[in-house]
Amino acid sequence: MDNNITCVKKSCFGCGLCFNKCPYEAIKLNEDIEGFLYPEVLSNKCKECGVCISICPAINKTEIDEENYKKKCYMGLSKDNQIYMNSASGGFATILSKYIIESENGIVYGCNLDEIGKVRHIRVNKLEDLNKLQDSKYVQSQIFDIFNSLKEDLKHNKVLFIGTPCQVDAIKKSLNKNEINNLYTIDLICHGVPSPGFFRKYIQFLSSKYREKIKKYRFRNKVNFDKCGFISRIDTENRKRMVFTDDDIYYRDFLEGKNYRLSCYECKYKNEIRVGDFTIGDVASWENYYDFYPEKTSSLIIINNSKAYTLFNRMKNNILYREISFEKEKKLNIALSQKNRIPEEREKIYEKYNELEFYENEVLKEVKFKLKIKNILKRIIPFKIRIRVKKLIRKMKKNE
Ligand SMILES: Cc1cc2nc3c(=O)[nH]c(=O)nc-3n(C[C@H](O)[C@H](O)[C@H](O)COP(=O)(O)OP(=O)(O)OC[C@H]3O[C@@H](n4cnc5c(N)ncnc54)[C@H](O)[C@@H]3O)c2cc1C
Repeated sequence: MDNNITCVKKSCFGCGLCFNKCPYEAIKLNEDIEGFLYPEVLSNKCKECGVCISICPAINKTEIDEENYKKKCYMGLSKDNQIYMNSASGGFATILSKYIIESENGIVYGCNLDEIGKVRHIRVNKLEDLNKLQDSKYVQSQIFDIFNSLKEDLKHNKVLFIGTPCQVDAIKKSLNKNEINNLYTIDLICHGVPSPGFFRKYIQFLSSKYREKIKKYRFRNKVNFDKCGFISRIDTENRKRMVFTDDDIYYRDFLEGKNYRLSCYECKYKNEIRVGDFTIGDVASWENYYDFYPEKTSSLIIINNSKAYTLFNRMKNNILYREISFEKEKKLNIALSQKNRIPEEREKIYEKYNELEFYENEVLKEVKFKLKIKNILKRIIPFKIRIRVKKLIRKMKKNE
């Protein structure tokens, strides 16, 4: 085996820790043809010292606290309605971030999507900037340029890092044990991430399609016709568009698992043993808990260790919450425990994206008439009414 990182390209998740730690600046990060970041070893500079291999989270075992802790699992909602409305689900990530900044004088690192479609982690230490992190961005976020500042912050402050499990692992691998004492982590339940390079290209494509600059793209939106708000909102200078995922080719391919990074199909973190102190996501087992705001989208909150439980107890007054069964959730929330099978379409999908206009026409032609009607009906009948009808049917069945 070579004593540098080149040999592991296929399983690499592109965190860039090797690039950051190489003592000889012998690693470059390049976007590959699909727009994902991969390391390249510069043979003229590499001394084969092996540092890149020793820290790589893809190669090395993930260290989990060995503490014997029985997970706690909740569904939760922000009490602050504005936070709830701007968040992906119940807003737990934002409420915890707010608590860390406000009450612990801490710093938060999370994912931001800017106007040109660039998705990267940023440092936030002011409450008014927390909205930059809200919402799920279904794109791989860049983290290679935050390792040093996060390490520096930990010398004087508590830090909260929120990201996908592979990112949390990379962050923890960049630190020593003492530094980790001051760090809190949230790992997201994640079924996979599409290419950041392609997403930027997609935003340009939308700009030329609408003949206007895209001001904002949001993946999750609180609307009265869809409980989880899986609908994109695309704002240009003069219009705000709500686009069903069937009509948004990027989003549609994401939900169907066709355009993930190759390493996502082999993800070692899709496991109930979690790398973060907290794990969050969307509650999949919500139909078991009609007593808890069924018309709202709750965050799933899993407490993985006593460090997280202590923090949760300090901040829980800021949320509405209810304990739920981890076992029931695990059965329904597929990305919590099962790997995605690599679909056949994955092989050619990024080639198809080279001809975006043609590809979009092809895909949209296929959107079935039945689906279109379903979407129209969805828009007409508010979700709250459908929930009430469901609730009533359940009650009637119970009384039979
Ligand atoms: C790529 C991806 C796939 C997901 N897949 C699932 C799934 O299969 N099942 C499930 O239950 N939940 C999934 N989630 C989680 C879910 O979409 C919500 O992010 C989660 O419920 C948190 O909601 P919230 O209201 O607490 O977050 P908000 O208060 O809206 O805050 C969002 C937080 O997520 C972080 N974040 C957003 N996008 C990214 C990103 N691309 N990379 C790293 N961090 C990011 C931000 O830093 C922010 O802190 C996924 C999230 C992502 C980003």
